[in-house]
Amino acid sequence: MADRLNGKVALVTGSGSGIGRGICMRFAEEGAHICAMDLNRGNAEETSRRLGSLGIKVHVVEGDVSRREDCERSVRECVETLGRLDICCANAGIGGGAGGAGGVLDLSEESWARVIAVNQTGVFLTCQAAARQMVRQGQGGKLIITSSVASERGSRQSLAYPASKAAVRHMAKVMAVDLAEHRINVNAIGPGLVETPLTEAGIARRAELGQEATNNPWGRLGQPRDVANVALFLASDESEFVTGGIIFPDGGSVAGQIRERRYDLPDRPWLRQ
Ligand code: NAD
Repeated sequence: MADRLNGKVALVTGSGSGIGRGICMRFAEEGAHICAMDLNRGNAEETSRRLGSLGIKVHVVEGDVSRREDCERSVRECVETLGRLDICCANAGIGGGAGGAGGVLDLSEESWARVIAVNQTGVFLTCQAAARQMVRQGQGGKLIITSSVASERGSRQSLAYPASKAAVRHMAKVMAVDLAEHRINVNAIGPGLVETPLTEAGIARRAELGQEATNNPWGRLGQPRDVANVALFLASDESEFVTGGIIFPDGGSVAGQIRERRYDLPDRPWLRQ
């Protein structure tokens, strides 16, 4: 039976698109009520419509995670309409500037500041507002932060985004230490390349250049559901002893990159036995 989150209430930021929408759908399939927060109200309402047939309660909040009052209002509305808050996914994020403007030589201070405001300060403000509510309730909770494989390694023409994703990964560790006494688990997720509106232009550009979409060992792009399944584990009772960690739904891309899929394999006598 699909009831791993039965009756729990989850706040998901960036719920109007891609991974956030995938998390909302997966949580709702398992019986959670959803507070869907996003900068774009129309997109969050579309997520709400898609959740309509699952028989759970949904509340939509329009807001900007880089603004303290919006994060606090989201938690307040969640509690007023859905009764409580058990799970918070600090998922909203933006890319770091493409087309040569994102590296250390060219990145503007304004671009740097906006990425850090949304991807890092937004996670702090979201988690603070949510954790305070969870402590008030006195029954523990789950904070789940969307980091990235970019927290692990550098790439060309991109500085602010990986810096923000490494910062929130470390914030998950530090918050986990602080909040353990309140039985609040804090974990990060580090997706590899996932097909969403955030990445579609980059994926299309690679296709135009005749390049493979991904060089992860698994050999396919990630889908929002791959990430949502990890979020579900971290939101469920099964992860009770897991805190301060990160899980990479990335097809092995942190473990290693495949540069050439077709090469001469060694003779394998053991295969013929
Ligand atoms: P997306 O662009 O499809 O969705 C992001 C959503 O966040 C949008 O609905 C957008 O309106 C919302 N948003 C943006 N700024 C906001 C703000 N200030 N306040 C509230 N909402 C805001 O992107 P996605 O691919 O689903 O990315 C979701 C998260 O996953 C991001 O944190 C991203 O960095 C991370 N991530 C994505 C990938 C990938 O390959 N897609 C890989 C690793 C990590």
